[in-house]
Amino acid sequence: MPQHSAPGERLQAVALRIDNAASRADRPAPRLLAVGKTRDAGELAALLALRLAAGEARPAFGENYVQEAAGKIEALAGRPVEWHLIGHLQSNKARQAAALFDWVQTLDRPKLVAALARHRPAERGPLNVLVQVNIDDEDSKQGCRPEDVPALADAVAAEPRLALRGLMAIPAPHPEPSRRRAAFARMRAAFEALAARYPQVDTLSMGMSDDLEEAIAEGATMVRVGTALFGPRPAAGARTGGE
Ligand SMILES: *Cc1c(COP(=O)(O)O)cnc(C)c1O
Repeated sequence: MPQHSAPGERLQAVALRIDNAASRADRPAPRLLAVGKTRDAGELAALLALRLAAGEARPAFGENYVQEAAGKIEALAGRPVEWHLIGHLQSNKARQAAALFDWVQTLDRPKLVAALARHRPAERGPLNVLVQVNIDDEDSKQGCRPEDVPALADAVAAEPRLALRGLMAIPAPHPEPSRRRAAFARMRAAFEALAARYPQVDTLSMGMSDDLEEAIAEGATMVRVGTALFGPRPAAGARTGGE
């Protein structure tokens, strides 16, 4: 695809990739989370308009940095957007995150459970939470160990101000598709085990611009896509971190 292709063409191309992968896997199409890091509020508003015109009621957008998100959320206030935090969350940002976002996908330690629950504003519904799993056991990555998922999930489920919805992962970018797919398959097993214990668990967030087909083949219910929707990021924004 040419680098300068219009946002509408990029959105169509991503939607087609998702639909094709889902039908090949004989699964329902996953939700699309548009990853807006390094993009300004105007770019997000343009994509939002396209998604609304395509018939989505409340498109999902993801942000890595609480501070960066705050300005965009304010700029788009009143528009029908579901906001997801997908970057690493520092405990001292939990209050702001609990007030700003509809979902936090990066809960990976017990301390965040209490902090998010305590700071979720009373006038808002429960904060939707995904437990982030370090599925490739990488030193540098955020996320809990797979064996820690049950205890963390129990803690989230016990908080009335939080809603346990599932799991999220950022597998290592193996050049080998079969290695990538194996990591997604491990996530699916963890997700199915969790869903068997908690009927409200319905979300497995995995797959990005380069590997969404493999993630969908292994049962992703939400894919997080930046580059394929917005075009290449400037080098400084290529990181997948958070605060
Ligand atoms: C940046 C980012 C994405 C999107 O990555 P692309 O390769 O641009 O699609 C998805 N998930 C997380 C956690 C990210 O930080």
